[in-house]
Amino acid sequence: MRLVGLIGGMSAESTAYYYQTFNRLVREQLGGLHSARVLIWSVDFAPIAELQAQGDWDGAGAILADIAVRLEAAGAEAILIGANTMHLVAERVAAAVKVPLIHIGDATAGALEAIGARRPLLLGTRFTMEMGFYRDRLAARGIDALIPDEADRARLHAIIYDELCQGVISPASKVEVLAMIGKASGADAVIFACTEIGLLLSPQDLALPVVDTAIVHAQAGVDFSLA
Ligand code: GLU
Repeated sequence: MRLVGLIGGMSAESTAYYYQTFNRLVREQLGGLHSARVLIWSVDFAPIAELQAQGDWDGAGAILADIAVRLEAAGAEAILIGANTMHLVAERVAAAVKVPLIHIGDATAGALEAIGARRPLLLGTRFTMEMGFYRDRLAARGIDALIPDEADRARLHAIIYDELCQGVISPASKVEVLAMIGKASGADAVIFACTEIGLLLSPQDLALPVVDTAIVHAQAGVDFSLA
């Protein structure tokens, strides 16, 4: 089994979810006492979130690239960034190491293709919904992602940072996010394009098919590990 390196802590809530998912998927495939071979470097998210809020992607990218180098030096044979938003600096991180970066957008596009979705509703931070880095990667695969309206994007962003990333799971916020999804006419799937959304909603809550980026990304890591 190859060793994968996960840059985590963004947030710690979703990193725990990744870790559980890695181990569940390895156990499902290999059975018995098998579990994932994974190195996790978990950051203090507060200074990273501050750099995000300031738009200092260069500063945040330098921190993540340095961590990737350390994970590679410790033996990681591939790197995963355990968040959608920080894939804004994915190219910089990938350029810092010789091992491959397993990109969350590629794992997501593959999962959407597998269910034939072409117009998914993308739910994530404002950065992921509004900046090109994520939707363009999907568009390059012929997937035209829809996003909520301005007010809903602001509210969802606040739910992610003020609640989910801090371990707060609010039934009232769940109702709000389900209402946002209900407004999306023409969507053929929903992308949980923030790695904490799967802590709030489950696919059973929705009529549309769901791609949970944390799960498909962890699956891509496990596929690499077991290949
Ligand atoms: N984990 C989140 C994501 O997938 C949001 C936190 C962050 O900005 O990194 O985008």
